Amino acid sequence: MNLLGCSPQGLTDWCVARGEKPFRARQLLKWVHQRGTKDFAEMTDLAREFRAGLEQDAEVAPPAVLQDHVSADGTRKWLFDMGQGNAIETVFIPEVDRGTLCVSSQAGCTVACPFCSTGRQGFNRNLTTAEIVGQLWWARHELAQPVTNVVMMGMGEPLLNYDQLVPALQLMLHDDAYGLSRRRVTVSTSGVVPMMDRLARDCPVALAVSLHAPTDALRDVLVPLNKKYPLKVLMASIRNYLGAAPRDFITFEYVMLDGVNDSLDHARQLVKLVRAEEISCKFNLIPFNPFPNSGYRKSSWPRQRAFADFLTQEGYVTTIRKTRGDDIDAACGQLAGDIQDRTRITLRTK
Ligand code: SAH
Ligand code: SF4
Repeated sequence: MNLLGCSPQGLTDWCVARGEKPFRARQLLKWVHQRGTKDFAEMTDLAREFRAGLEQDAEVAPPAVLQDHVSADGTRKWLFDMGQGNAIETVFIPEVDRGTLCVSSQAGCTVACPFCSTGRQGFNRNLTTAEIVGQLWWARHELAQPVTNVVMMGMGEPLLNYDQLVPALQLMLHDDAYGLSRRRVTVSTSGVVPMMDRLARDCPVALAVSLHAPTDALRDVLVPLNKKYPLKVLMASIRNYLGAAPRDFITFEYVMLDGVNDSLDHARQLVKLVRAEEISCKFNLIPFNPFPNSGYRKSSWPRQRAFADFLTQEGYVTTIRKTRGDDIDAACGQLAGDIQDRTRITLRTK
């Protein structure tokens, strides 16, 4: 059993089943998640016998690091081995007043957005709770700076891995584990409506929705899941989520693709949409991060600025995401893409 994926309740039951007091689970959680201890022998406030049982039946097993890059601007990126030629990435973005960890939820993704290199890789598998939490465990114990925020914006669609995701979120929030507040944990989704509704009930953390287009016709192309859950349905689900959310707004992510979705007309349609649907929101414009043969180009800076200015004038808080870690490709599945292609070739020639 990998303790990194154990829920506090599961761990309590496990301790009790071995004749231990329930509070042993709290001690274990703290050793593992807060102090980062892998070696049970070091857990000196646990009885010798119990530790021997742990040695036999449990482990603290974070994913293995394949690569570790540090960018000139301090951004750090790890590539983790997921076995069978799969790799995922985790990125830490240090800022003056916080440290944000961008965590992956799947190896690949089924949604297949055409501008996303993860989507272009196809889908390999869901990560387990231990593999999701393992990324945070690793960063927390490797970095000098604390991880104050987690964003589920790495590889994969977190809400299509719901059963493994929610226990991972709960560990991020739990006081005996990582103790992050709900406002500091963000799930980013391409709009998996039934799971957004469930998340509102089960574990309402901050939500970001990848909108990328103001009309169904365009969103059907850019986020193919839109054919299943079109804008009207998506907006209703967001309104419902806002009733439970830890913040009183949601964040719309909007990738800026030159000549595709970045005109002032698109901005006007966007405002019309969120006004008609009465959604309290902020916009986060993401400059397109190019990759080979993507077929898309990044919008020019004046176009990004004009789009942002329009939304701001209409009263919406709008940010343009800073490009960080450019020199280490610290964005959106790129490095993992390279590695995956290489590992696949290796596998094929074996
Ligand atoms: N699957 C989730 C979360 C992961 S992606 C989702 O789609 O929301 C995090 C953000 O990066 C999403 O808004 C996604 O659309 C965006 N993104 C993906 N590829 C990109 C690229 N090449 N350039 C810029 N943003 C990209
Ligand atoms: Fe999947 Fe998100 Fe990439 Fe779309 S943008 S393919 S949902 S990871």
